[in-house]
Amino acid sequence: MDTNALEQLAEDIYTCNRSRCGFCVADCPVYRVKGFEAYTSRGKMLIARALLEGLIEPSEEVQEILDGCLLCGYCQARCALNNLEVITSLRSRMNQEGLSSPEHQQKVSRIVEEGVLFDRPVPMKREGTTPLYLGCLYQSKPVEARTIISVLERCGLDPLVVEETCCGYFAEAAGFEDDFERIQEKFTEAYGEHADQEILTLCPTCTITLRERYGLKVKHAIVAVAERMEELNPGQLELRATYHDPCHLGRMLGILDEPRDILRALGVELVEMEHNRTFSSCCGGGGGVADTDPDLALEVAKNRIRDALGVGVENLITVCPTCEPTLLRGASRLANETDVFVDVRSLWDLLDEALPQDE
Ligand code: SF4
Ligand code: SF4
Repeated sequence: MDTNALEQLAEDIYTCNRSRCGFCVADCPVYRVKGFEAYTSRGKMLIARALLEGLIEPSEEVQEILDGCLLCGYCQARCALNNLEVITSLRSRMNQEGLSSPEHQQKVSRIVEEGVLFDRPVPMKREGTTPLYLGCLYQSKPVEARTIISVLERCGLDPLVVEETCCGYFAEAAGFEDDFERIQEKFTEAYGEHADQEILTLCPTCTITLRERYGLKVKHAIVAVAERMEELNPGQLELRATYHDPCHLGRMLGILDEPRDILRALGVELVEMEHNRTFSSCCGGGGGVADTDPDLALEVAKNRIRDALGVGVENLITVCPTCEPTLLRGASRLANETDVFVDVRSLWDLLDEALPQDE
Protein backbone atom coordinates (compact mmCIF):
# COMPACT_ATOMS: atom_id res chain seq x y z
CA MET A 1 0.00 0.00 0.00
CA ASP A 2 1.40 3.42 -1.00
CA THR A 3 1.56 5.43 2.21
CA ASN A 4 3.62 8.35 0.83
CA ALA A 5 1.05 11.14 1.01
CA LEU A 6 0.05 10.25 4.54
CA GLU A 7 3.65 9.75 5.64
CA GLN A 8 4.37 13.32 4.61
CA LEU A 9 1.60 14.40 6.96
CA ALA A 10 2.70 12.10 9.79
CA GLU A 11 3.81 14.97 12.02
CA ASP A 12 0.34 16.52 11.91
CA ILE A 13 -1.32 13.16 12.44
CA TYR A 14 0.79 12.31 15.51
CA THR A 15 0.53 15.85 16.90
CA CYS A 16 -3.23 15.47 16.94
CA ASN A 17 -3.02 11.95 18.36
CA ARG A 18 -0.85 13.22 21.21
CA SER A 19 -2.87 16.35 22.03
CA ARG A 20 -6.42 15.10 21.30
CA CYS A 21 -7.57 18.60 22.30
CA GLY A 22 -10.98 18.13 20.68
CA PHE A 23 -11.56 21.76 19.63
CA CYS A 24 -12.74 20.41 16.28
CA VAL A 25 -15.31 17.98 17.62
CA ALA A 26 -18.53 19.48 19.04
CA ASP A 27 -19.38 21.80 16.14
CA CYS A 28 -18.27 19.58 13.25
CA PRO A 29 -21.55 19.65 11.29
CA VAL A 30 -21.41 15.91 10.65
CA TYR A 31 -20.78 15.19 14.34
CA ARG A 32 -23.79 17.38 15.13
CA VAL A 33 -25.89 14.88 13.17
CA LYS A 34 -24.14 11.55 13.71
CA GLY A 35 -22.76 11.96 17.24
CA PHE A 36 -19.83 9.62 16.43
CA GLU A 37 -16.28 10.84 16.85
CA ALA A 38 -14.98 8.84 13.87
CA TYR A 39 -16.62 11.45 11.62
CA THR A 40 -14.69 14.35 13.16
CA SER A 41 -11.21 15.49 12.26
CA ARG A 42 -9.85 14.01 15.49
CA GLY A 43 -11.42 10.68 14.57
CA LYS A 44 -9.97 10.77 11.07
CA MET A 45 -6.51 11.61 12.45
CA LEU A 46 -6.72 8.36 14.43
CA ILE A 47 -7.80 6.47 11.32
CA ALA A 48 -4.81 7.97 9.48
CA ARG A 49 -2.43 6.79 12.19
CA ALA A 50 -3.96 3.32 12.21
CA LEU A 51 -3.50 3.10 8.43
CA LEU A 52 0.08 4.34 8.68
CA GLU A 53 0.94 1.75 11.31
CA GLY A 54 -0.92 -1.03 9.53
CA LEU A 55 -3.32 -1.49 12.44
CA ILE A 56 -6.26 -1.29 10.04
CA GLU A 57 -6.59 -1.82 6.30
CA PRO A 58 -8.56 0.36 3.87
CA SER A 59 -12.14 -0.89 3.94
CA GLU A 60 -15.66 0.07 2.93
CA GLU A 61 -16.28 1.12 6.53
CA VAL A 62 -13.37 3.60 6.42
CA GLN A 63 -14.50 4.79 2.99
CA GLU A 64 -18.02 5.45 4.32
CA ILE A 65 -16.58 7.63 7.10
CA LEU A 66 -14.43 9.58 4.65
CA ASP A 67 -17.25 10.01 2.14
CA GLY A 68 -19.24 11.47 5.03
CA CYS A 69 -16.89 14.45 5.35
CA LEU A 70 -18.15 17.77 3.97
CA LEU A 71 -14.59 19.12 3.55
CA CYS A 72 -16.09 22.24 5.07
CA GLY A 73 -12.88 23.23 6.84
CA TYR A 74 -14.51 24.01 10.19
CA CYS A 75 -12.01 21.68 11.88
CA GLN A 76 -9.12 23.42 10.15
CA ALA A 77 -10.33 26.80 11.42
CA ARG A 78 -10.21 25.37 14.96
CA CYS A 79 -6.81 23.74 14.57
CA ALA A 80 -3.21 24.56 13.65
CA LEU A 81 -2.80 21.38 11.56
CA ASN A 82 -3.41 20.53 7.89
CA ASN A 83 -6.70 18.78 8.59
CA LEU A 84 -8.16 19.02 5.09
CA GLU A 85 -4.96 17.75 3.52
CA VAL A 86 -5.03 14.70 5.78
CA ILE A 87 -8.67 14.04 4.91
CA THR A 88 -8.20 14.42 1.14
CA SER A 89 -5.07 12.23 1.31
CA LEU A 90 -7.12 9.58 3.08
CA ARG A 91 -9.78 9.81 0.37
CA SER A 92 -7.09 9.53 -2.26
CA ARG A 93 -5.73 6.42 -0.51
CA MET A 94 -9.15 4.80 -0.53
CA ASN A 95 -9.43 5.61 -4.21
CA GLN A 96 -6.05 3.98 -4.94
CA GLU A 97 -7.34 0.86 -3.21
CA GLY A 98 -10.42 0.81 -5.46
CA LEU A 99 -12.61 2.11 -2.66
CA SER A 100 -14.55 5.01 -4.12
CA SER A 101 -18.28 5.45 -4.44
CA PRO A 102 -19.87 4.79 -7.85
CA GLU A 103 -21.58 8.21 -7.59
CA HIS A 104 -18.22 9.98 -7.30
CA GLN A 105 -16.65 7.84 -10.04
CA GLN A 106 -19.49 8.67 -12.40
CA LYS A 107 -19.22 12.42 -11.81
CA VAL A 108 -15.45 12.47 -12.25
CA SER A 109 -15.68 10.43 -15.47
CA ARG A 110 -18.17 12.93 -16.85
CA ILE A 111 -15.87 15.86 -16.08
CA VAL A 112 -12.92 14.09 -17.73
CA GLU A 113 -14.86 13.04 -20.83
CA GLU A 114 -17.24 15.98 -21.36
CA GLY A 115 -15.62 18.80 -19.37
CA VAL A 116 -18.84 19.40 -17.42
CA LEU A 117 -20.23 18.38 -14.04
CA PHE A 118 -23.91 19.04 -14.83
CA ASP A 119 -26.12 19.39 -17.89
CA ARG A 120 -25.90 22.78 -19.58
CA PRO A 121 -29.34 23.55 -21.02
CA VAL A 122 -28.29 26.48 -23.21
CA PRO A 123 -24.85 27.63 -24.37
CA MET A 124 -23.89 30.61 -22.21
CA LYS A 125 -21.66 33.07 -24.04
CA ARG A 126 -21.39 36.84 -23.94
CA GLU A 127 -19.12 39.33 -25.62
CA GLY A 128 -17.52 41.67 -23.10
CA THR A 129 -14.32 42.96 -21.57
CA THR A 130 -14.10 41.39 -18.08
CA PRO A 131 -13.82 37.58 -18.05
CA LEU A 132 -16.55 36.00 -15.92
CA TYR A 133 -16.22 32.29 -15.13
CA LEU A 134 -19.71 30.96 -14.45
CA GLY A 135 -18.73 27.47 -13.29
CA CYS A 136 -20.73 24.27 -13.79
CA LEU A 137 -23.53 25.10 -11.37
CA TYR A 138 -24.42 28.43 -12.95
CA GLN A 139 -23.92 26.94 -16.40
CA SER A 140 -26.72 24.54 -15.41
CA LYS A 141 -28.94 27.42 -14.20
CA PRO A 142 -29.23 29.92 -17.07
CA VAL A 143 -31.98 31.96 -15.40
CA GLU A 144 -29.87 32.60 -12.30
CA ALA A 145 -26.77 33.22 -14.43
CA ARG A 146 -28.61 35.78 -16.58
CA THR A 147 -29.87 37.53 -13.42
CA ILE A 148 -26.33 37.84 -12.10
CA ILE A 149 -25.04 39.12 -15.44
CA SER A 150 -27.79 41.76 -15.38
CA VAL A 151 -26.75 42.81 -11.85
CA LEU A 152 -23.12 43.05 -12.92
CA GLU A 153 -24.10 45.15 -15.95
CA ARG A 154 -25.99 47.52 -13.64
CA CYS A 155 -22.81 47.76 -11.55
CA GLY A 156 -20.99 49.06 -14.61
CA LEU A 157 -19.24 45.80 -15.50
CA ASP A 158 -19.13 44.26 -18.97
CA PRO A 159 -18.80 40.47 -18.42
CA LEU A 160 -17.15 38.29 -21.03
CA VAL A 161 -18.41 34.70 -20.93
CA VAL A 162 -16.55 32.18 -23.09
CA GLU A 163 -17.00 28.45 -23.60
CA GLU A 164 -15.59 27.05 -20.40
CA THR A 165 -14.92 23.63 -18.91
CA CYS A 166 -15.22 22.43 -15.30
CA CYS A 167 -12.51 23.58 -12.87
CA GLY A 168 -12.29 20.01 -11.54
CA TYR A 169 -12.63 20.70 -7.82
CA PHE A 170 -14.91 17.72 -7.42
CA ALA A 171 -12.31 15.29 -8.79
CA GLU A 172 -9.67 16.48 -6.35
CA ALA A 173 -12.08 16.53 -3.41
CA ALA A 174 -13.19 12.98 -4.16
CA GLY A 175 -9.57 11.79 -4.24
CA PHE A 176 -9.11 11.40 -8.03
CA GLU A 177 -5.80 13.25 -8.32
CA ASP A 178 -4.70 11.88 -11.71
CA ASP A 179 -8.04 12.79 -13.24
CA PHE A 180 -7.76 16.27 -11.73
CA GLU A 181 -4.52 16.83 -13.66
CA ARG A 182 -6.23 15.87 -16.93
CA ILE A 183 -9.15 18.18 -16.14
CA GLN A 184 -6.73 21.06 -15.45
CA GLU A 185 -5.18 20.61 -18.90
CA LYS A 186 -8.62 20.72 -20.53
CA PHE A 187 -9.58 23.86 -18.60
CA THR A 188 -6.38 25.69 -19.53
CA GLU A 189 -6.85 24.86 -23.20
CA ALA A 190 -10.52 25.99 -23.20
CA TYR A 191 -10.02 29.22 -21.26
CA GLY A 192 -7.08 30.17 -23.45
CA GLU A 193 -5.64 33.69 -23.38
CA HIS A 194 -8.33 34.95 -20.95
CA ALA A 195 -6.57 33.06 -18.15
CA ASP A 196 -3.96 35.86 -18.17
CA GLN A 197 -6.55 38.50 -17.16
CA GLU A 198 -8.26 38.98 -13.81
CA ILE A 199 -11.27 36.65 -13.86
CA LEU A 200 -14.51 37.34 -12.01
CA THR A 201 -16.02 34.21 -10.47
CA LEU A 202 -19.41 33.32 -9.03
CA CYS A 203 -19.00 29.98 -7.31
CA PRO A 204 -16.87 30.11 -4.13
CA THR A 205 -15.52 26.63 -4.82
CA CYS A 206 -14.42 27.47 -8.37
CA THR A 207 -12.88 30.67 -6.98
CA ILE A 208 -10.64 28.87 -4.53
CA THR A 209 -9.75 26.16 -7.06
CA LEU A 210 -8.78 28.61 -9.79
CA ARG A 211 -6.77 30.69 -7.35
CA GLU A 212 -4.97 27.99 -5.41
CA ARG A 213 -4.71 25.08 -7.84
CA TYR A 214 -4.32 26.98 -11.12
CA GLY A 215 -2.58 30.07 -9.75
CA LEU A 216 -4.96 32.41 -11.63
CA LYS A 217 -5.85 35.97 -10.68
CA VAL A 218 -9.50 35.72 -9.65
CA LYS A 219 -11.94 37.94 -7.82
CA HIS A 220 -15.32 36.76 -6.55
CA ALA A 221 -17.92 38.93 -8.31
CA ILE A 222 -19.58 39.86 -5.01
CA VAL A 223 -16.36 41.66 -4.04
CA ALA A 224 -16.51 43.62 -7.32
CA VAL A 225 -20.10 44.60 -6.47
CA ALA A 226 -19.17 45.61 -2.90
CA GLU A 227 -16.43 47.88 -4.31
CA ARG A 228 -19.06 49.72 -6.38
CA MET A 229 -21.88 49.82 -3.82
CA GLU A 230 -21.47 53.47 -2.84
CA GLU A 231 -22.16 54.61 -6.41
CA LEU A 232 -25.22 52.44 -6.96
CA ASN A 233 -28.10 54.04 -5.07
CA PRO A 234 -30.03 50.79 -4.36
CA GLY A 235 -33.65 50.64 -3.19
CA GLN A 236 -34.27 49.70 0.46
CA LEU A 237 -35.69 46.21 1.05
CA GLU A 238 -36.63 46.48 4.75
CA LEU A 239 -35.98 42.84 5.45
CA ARG A 240 -34.89 41.17 8.69
CA ALA A 241 -32.52 38.35 7.82
CA THR A 242 -29.48 36.33 8.72
CA TYR A 243 -26.51 35.68 6.45
CA HIS A 244 -25.01 32.23 5.91
CA ASP A 245 -21.26 32.29 5.12
CA PRO A 246 -20.50 29.64 2.46
CA CYS A 247 -17.46 27.64 3.68
CA HIS A 248 -15.25 28.37 0.70
CA LEU A 249 -16.26 32.03 0.43
CA GLY A 250 -16.06 32.95 4.10
CA ARG A 251 -13.74 30.66 6.01
CA MET A 252 -11.36 29.88 3.18
CA LEU A 253 -11.33 33.03 1.03
CA GLY A 254 -11.95 35.45 3.91
CA ILE A 255 -14.85 37.18 2.11
CA LEU A 256 -16.82 37.88 5.26
CA ASP A 257 -17.54 41.62 5.33
CA GLU A 258 -18.42 42.32 1.69
CA PRO A 259 -21.74 40.38 1.61
CA ARG A 260 -22.73 41.89 4.96
CA ASP A 261 -21.85 45.41 3.74
CA ILE A 262 -24.02 44.88 0.67
CA LEU A 263 -26.93 43.59 2.79
CA ARG A 264 -26.78 46.66 5.02
CA ALA A 265 -26.63 48.93 1.96
CA LEU A 266 -29.82 47.23 0.73
CA GLY A 267 -31.58 48.10 4.00
CA VAL A 268 -31.46 44.59 5.48
CA GLU A 269 -31.49 44.32 9.28
CA LEU A 270 -28.81 41.70 9.80
CA VAL A 271 -29.05 39.18 12.66
CA GLU A 272 -26.05 36.88 13.16
CA MET A 273 -26.45 33.16 13.84
CA GLU A 274 -24.44 31.43 16.55
CA HIS A 275 -22.06 29.85 14.00
CA ASN A 276 -20.96 32.72 11.80
CA ARG A 277 -18.09 34.17 9.80
CA THR A 278 -14.94 32.00 10.09
CA PHE A 279 -16.80 29.52 12.28
CA SER A 280 -19.87 29.24 10.09
CA SER A 281 -21.49 25.81 9.81
CA CYS A 282 -21.65 24.03 6.43
CA CYS A 283 -24.97 23.89 4.53
CA GLY A 284 -24.54 20.15 3.89
CA GLY A 285 -23.63 20.56 0.22
CA GLY A 286 -19.86 20.10 0.56
CA GLY A 287 -17.47 17.22 -0.09
CA GLY A 288 -19.80 15.24 -2.36
CA VAL A 289 -21.79 14.06 0.69
CA ALA A 290 -25.08 14.85 -1.03
CA ASP A 291 -24.20 12.19 -3.65
CA THR A 292 -23.28 9.38 -1.30
CA ASP A 293 -25.50 10.13 1.72
CA PRO A 294 -28.30 12.57 0.81
CA ASP A 295 -30.01 11.98 4.17
CA LEU A 296 -26.91 13.18 6.01
CA ALA A 297 -26.65 16.26 3.77
CA LEU A 298 -30.31 17.02 4.46
CA GLU A 299 -29.91 16.72 8.24
CA VAL A 300 -26.88 19.06 8.13
CA ALA A 301 -28.95 21.56 6.13
CA LYS A 302 -31.82 21.31 8.62
CA ASN A 303 -29.40 22.04 11.47
CA ARG A 304 -28.24 25.16 9.66
CA ILE A 305 -31.85 26.29 9.31
CA ARG A 306 -32.33 25.58 13.02
CA ASP A 307 -29.41 27.98 13.62
CA ALA A 308 -31.47 30.69 11.87
CA LEU A 309 -34.61 29.86 13.83
CA GLY A 310 -32.48 29.92 17.01
CA VAL A 311 -31.96 33.67 16.55
CA GLY A 312 -35.56 34.29 15.62
CA VAL A 313 -35.25 35.00 11.89
CA GLU A 314 -37.24 33.56 9.02
CA ASN A 315 -35.14 34.88 6.13
CA LEU A 316 -31.70 33.52 5.31
CA ILE A 317 -29.49 35.05 2.64
CA THR A 318 -26.42 33.45 1.13
CA VAL A 319 -24.34 33.72 -2.02
CA CYS A 320 -23.35 30.30 -3.31
CA PRO A 321 -24.97 28.08 -5.97
CA THR A 322 -24.50 25.03 -3.74
CA CYS A 323 -25.63 26.52 -0.41
CA GLU A 324 -28.82 28.09 -1.84
CA PRO A 325 -30.60 24.91 -3.06
CA THR A 326 -29.19 22.78 -0.24
CA LEU A 327 -30.45 25.13 2.47
CA LEU A 328 -33.77 25.62 0.70
CA ARG A 329 -34.28 21.85 0.74
CA GLY A 330 -33.43 21.81 4.46
CA ALA A 331 -35.83 24.69 5.13
CA SER A 332 -38.67 22.96 3.28
CA ARG A 333 -38.24 19.67 5.11
CA LEU A 334 -37.84 21.34 8.49
CA ALA A 335 -41.04 23.27 7.87
CA ASN A 336 -42.86 19.90 7.84
CA GLU A 337 -41.70 19.40 11.43
CA THR A 338 -41.93 22.94 12.81
CA ASP A 339 -44.59 24.64 10.67
CA VAL A 340 -42.14 27.54 10.27
CA PHE A 341 -40.58 28.13 6.87
CA VAL A 342 -37.25 29.92 6.66
CA ASP A 343 -37.05 31.54 3.25
CA VAL A 344 -33.64 31.05 1.66
CA ARG A 345 -32.62 33.63 -0.92
CA SER A 346 -29.59 34.50 -2.97
CA LEU A 347 -27.87 37.82 -2.38
CA TRP A 348 -27.90 38.16 -6.19
CA ASP A 349 -31.73 38.09 -6.14
CA LEU A 350 -31.80 40.83 -3.53
CA LEU A 351 -29.43 42.92 -5.63
CA ASP A 352 -31.59 42.31 -8.69
CA GLU A 353 -34.61 43.57 -6.76
CA ALA A 354 -32.91 46.60 -5.24
CA LEU A 355 -30.72 47.97 -8.02
CA PRO A 356 -32.35 50.32 -10.51
CA GLN A 357 -33.18 48.58 -13.80
CA ASP A 358 -31.49 49.84 -16.93
CA GLU A 359 -33.71 52.02 -19.07
S1 SF4 B 1 -7.68 17.76 14.73
FE1 SF4 B 1 -6.77 19.58 15.71
S2 SF4 B 1 -8.46 20.47 16.91
FE2 SF4 B 1 -9.05 18.35 16.41
S3 SF4 B 1 -8.34 17.12 18.16
FE3 SF4 B 1 -6.72 17.06 16.63
S4 SF4 B 1 -5.35 18.72 17.23
FE4 SF4 B 1 -7.28 19.10 18.28
S1 SF4 C 1 -14.14 19.11 7.21
FE1 SF4 C 1 -16.09 19.64 8.23
S2 SF4 C 1 -17.30 17.75 8.15
FE2 SF4 C 1 -15.16 17.18 7.73
S3 SF4 C 1 -14.33 16.63 9.73
FE3 SF4 C 1 -13.84 18.79 9.41
S4 SF4 C 1 -15.54 19.91 10.41
FE4 SF4 C 1 -16.22 17.77 10.13
